[in-house]
Amino acid sequence: MKKLRLILLGAPGAGKGTQATRISAAYGIPQISTGAMLREAIAEGTALGLEAKKCMDKGDLVPDELVVNIVRERLSRSDCDGGYILDGFPRTIPQAEALDNMLQELDEKIDGALSIEVEDADIVSRMGGRRYCPKCEKTYHVKYNPPKTEGICDSCGTELAIRKDDNPEVVSERLKVYHTLTAPLKNYYDSQGKLFTAMGMEELSDTTANVDAALSKITAEEV
Ligand code: AMP
Repeated sequence: MKKLRLILLGAPGAGKGTQATRISAAYGIPQISTGAMLREAIAEGTALGLEAKKCMDKGDLVPDELVVNIVRERLSRSDCDGGYILDGFPRTIPQAEALDNMLQELDEKIDGALSIEVEDADIVSRMGGRRYCPKCEKTYHVKYNPPKTEGICDSCGTELAIRKDDNPEVVSERLKVYHTLTAPLKNYYDSQGKLFTAMGMEELSDTTANVDAALSKITAEEV
């Protein structure tokens, strides 16, 4: 199978994490989630974690430089040689530019930036049902993507939790941040001919079908 280097774009709660986990398993490539790496740093109480927590609790972005550094280190590991899915990075134009520079140095290119499109009103109503596994970071929804056993992670058996930044006030700040700082990335990748879109639907299987249709266009363009 050809390498796939994919960026997933979309508002918080659009389904990036769920789709990234699925694509990662299907293509055998790592899911690189900056949000998960930052939550891990917070859990470990590192200096990066302490710095990140201040921003994340408010729904703001962590400074570009910190995030770019963790992504640079992560992409240098050998499991990224066959491709990867960036889930939650880049989130600003400077991050996208830093990524382009990193890839240029490696003589690599992104195959596509796939944006999962969901209306803000739907995001807000969905967030209430979102659950996540604090251990393996798998995401669920009580109605649209429930675990096999209520409240328990299918993959690792850990008790599911609600993310601290999924409360309505923080979600509304995260949406504002998304529209101001992250949505401009759609134009950035469109102007490079790399933007693909998929409508995020209420039912997970419908979103998955739309994402797969977009993915087949991305992989077709690669050949
Ligand atoms: P996520 O799990 O992708 O929803 O990210 C949770 C939070 O982590 C975000 O609201 C930001 O505070 C922070 N974060 C994750 N990725 C980035 C990034 N690429 N740049 C800056 N902050 C980020």
